[in-house]
Amino acid sequence: MTPTRRDFLGAAAGAAGATAVPDPARASDHHDHEHDHHDDVPSDIALRVKSLESLLIEKGLVDRAALDALVDTYEHKVGPRNGARVVARAWVDPAYKERLLASGTAAIGEFGYSGNQGADIRVVENTDKVHNLVVCTLCSCYPWPVLGLPPVWYKSAPYRSRAVIDPRGVLRELGTDLPADVEVRVWDSTAEQRYLVLPERPAGTLHLGEEALAALVTRDAMIGVAKIVPPQKEAHA
Ligand code: FE
Repeated sequence: MTPTRRDFLGAAAGAAGATAVPDPARASDHHDHEHDHHDDVPSDIALRVKSLESLLIEKGLVDRAALDALVDTYEHKVGPRNGARVVARAWVDPAYKERLLASGTAAIGEFGYSGNQGADIRVVENTDKVHNLVVCTLCSCYPWPVLGLPPVWYKSAPYRSRAVIDPRGVLRELGTDLPADVEVRVWDSTAEQRYLVLPERPAGTLHLGEEALAALVTRDAMIGVAKIVPPQKEAHA
């Protein structure tokens, strides 16, 4: 089972022992984690988040259930499916694609997708000559309204540094070997400017409608670390 954010923060507090703010609901954590955790030391950020959250709850300033509901919304409800619908629309509607490339935020807003971490989204188009790759070298800036919350690897130091130093190498390791004549453009996200990759519509999809096309679009393709796999000929007809 995938560990939840609550498990993660709980484990962070447990492994940190006395350095974390005590949380009555998690009093047993330390004892649950007496074994060695040399490879599993929580990050400074995780500890700070846990401490801050515990303090805010203790002082009655936030409600734990409300926090969980908020995170759940971005993890499971507002996710890459939003971005996939935007991409599929751009594939079937040239006028929409034009608006999307001219002003990502406004065109994405036509679907009602807007808000937190999406104030200025620029859409960059992949072609047979250009491949776009998105990273946030500084931290983890990401277009929440269309992709949800960033995956763990997107926030990791190796991806953040290597995506800029050796984008072709990163892509190759992730299974995308680009021909030498394809230019790779790396976009470094910031708190003000975020990016969404408009992947190429795969061959053999002329018969597919917008909804079926959206189902082909993956999160990784919209970050630019993968290509979209054309549908299997025999796929569930
Ligand atoms: Fe960032």
